[in-house]
Amino acid sequence: MNNTEEKVRVRIAPSPSGNLHIGTARTALFNYLFAKKTGGKYVLRIEDTDLDRSSEAYKQNIFDSLKALGLNWDEGPDVGGNYGPYKQSERFDIYPKFAQMLIDKGYAYECFCSNEDLDEEHRIAEQKKIPYKYSRKCLNLTKEEKDALKAKGIVPSIRFKVEAKELIFNDLVKGELKFDTGLIGDFAIMKSNGTPTYNFAVVVDDMLMEITHVIRGEDHISNTPKQILIYEALGAKVPKFGHLGMILAPDRSKLSKRHGATAVSDFIKEGYLTDALLNFVALLGWAPSDGVEIKNVDEIAADFRINEVSSSNSIFEYEKLNWMNGQYIKKMDISKLTDLALPFLNKYNTSKYSRKQLEHIIEVTREPITLLKDLEFDTQYFFEEPDYTEVKDLLNSELSQEVLSKFKEDIKNYDFKNEQDIHDKLAEFRTFFKENKGYKPKETMWAIRAALTGRTRGANMVAIIQILGKDEVLKRLNNI
Ligand code: GLU
Repeated sequence: MNNTEEKVRVRIAPSPSGNLHIGTARTALFNYLFAKKTGGKYVLRIEDTDLDRSSEAYKQNIFDSLKALGLNWDEGPDVGGNYGPYKQSERFDIYPKFAQMLIDKGYAYECFCSNEDLDEEHRIAEQKKIPYKYSRKCLNLTKEEKDALKAKGIVPSIRFKVEAKELIFNDLVKGELKFDTGLIGDFAIMKSNGTPTYNFAVVVDDMLMEITHVIRGEDHISNTPKQILIYEALGAKVPKFGHLGMILAPDRSKLSKRHGATAVSDFIKEGYLTDALLNFVALLGWAPSDGVEIKNVDEIAADFRINEVSSSNSIFEYEKLNWMNGQYIKKMDISKLTDLALPFLNKYNTSKYSRKQLEHIIEVTREPITLLKDLEFDTQYFFEEPDYTEVKDLLNSELSQEVLSKFKEDIKNYDFKNEQDIHDKLAEFRTFFKENKGYKPKETMWAIRAALTGRTRGANMVAIIQILGKDEVLKRLNNI
C-alpha cells in the first residue's frame, strides 16, 4: 500500500439479539484477515438500536466469543477509539441531525402514515399481485398539512425519497452488481419513536467511522442499494462492499440448531477448540493456495485475498469440523489441552491426581477423540470404579480367570515408578501365556484391560497401570 491510498478500516457490526452465530464469526474473521493483510484497522460496533431485541447478556456473549476466537478488535465499545461511541444505543443523538439534513436537501420527507394505513397499502398490493412500494402519500404534504397532523399529536417517521435509476457497484466478492432502484420504494430512515432504521444507522456510522470496506453476508445485498443511495445523498464517500456467500447446512437448508451447534459459545461448550473452529470457518469461502487446510490464523492472513473468496454458498460440514478438531486435539500443547479439558471432567474428583498425572491421563486418551466432551467417557475409569457390564462374559472366561490370577501375583513386583519396567514385565507376561498356554497376546491383554477398565479398548495399558498405581490396580483385581 502506498501513502496516497487510504488506510483500510473495516468493521464487524453484530446486533446483540442472540449469541454470536458461527456465520457472524466467519464475517468477523474475514474482516479481521483483510485488516491484518492490509495493515488496516478492525472495528467492533454493537448495533443495538432495536432495544427490545437486544440484551446485555447477548452483547457479553458476542464479546466473549470473539475474544475466545482471538478476533480482538482495534476499536470497540470496551477498548474505545477515536470514532466512538461504538454502541449504536449511545449514538441516538447523532442520527436525527443527518435525517434533518436529508430533509433539508430534499432527499427525505416526513411520513405521517399510520401502521394501519401502511397495512392497507400492503393489502391492496397483494390483492393486485404487484410488488409493494410506498404510495408516496406524504411526499407532497404542505407545511400547513404537516403542522395540522403534528398538532393532532401524530409524530412522523422519515422516509428516504428513492429516485429511479440503474445503480451499479463492483462487489469485491461477487463482481459487478446492478439494481433498478425504481423497484425499491421510499423507505423509512427514522422511525416515529425517534430511533434510526438499520439502513440509516449503518450508513451514518460507517460514514462517521470512516469505514472503507464493508465485508458482510450476502443476506445484506438487498440493503446495499438503499445504503449507497443514502451515502450519495449525504455527499459521503461510498465504501467498497464485499458480500460473502451464505453458510448452509449439509442438507443445503439454512444452518439452524436442528443441524447442531450454531453459536460459537455452544461449539466451545461441546468441546471444539477455538483454533480448530477458526481454521474450519476460514475454509468456508476461502481456500489456501498450497492446498494445506490446517493453518493458524497468521498463516491464513498471509495467504488471504478478499477477491479470491468464493462467491457461492458454503456447506457447513460438521463431520469435517469434527475431523479437524481431532487433529488439533492430537497436536495441541499438553498443558494447554489439559486446561481446556478439565472443565469437561468436573463430574469427577480430579484432585486425587497431581497436575502431572492429569496431563498424563489427557495425553494417553486424546488420540481417538474428536471433541473435548468425549474425554468424560474416555477417562471414566481413571476417576471411578469401572463399569463391568460390557465385559462380564469376557471376565468370566477361563482364560481371563487364569490370566488375572497370575497377574494379581505378578503385579506386586512391578516398579510403578518406572514405565519401562511395567512395559517389559507386561511383555514377559504375554510371552509366558503364549508359550505355556498358547494364548494370543491380545487375549491376555484384553483380560487385564477388562479387569482394570471395564472396557476392551482404551488408552495404553502401561500408562493405565502406572497412572492407577499399585493399590488401585490390586483393588480392582481383587474385586473381580
Ligand atoms: N447489524 C447487522 C447484522 O447483524 C450488520 C449488518 C452489516 O454488516 O451491515 O446483520
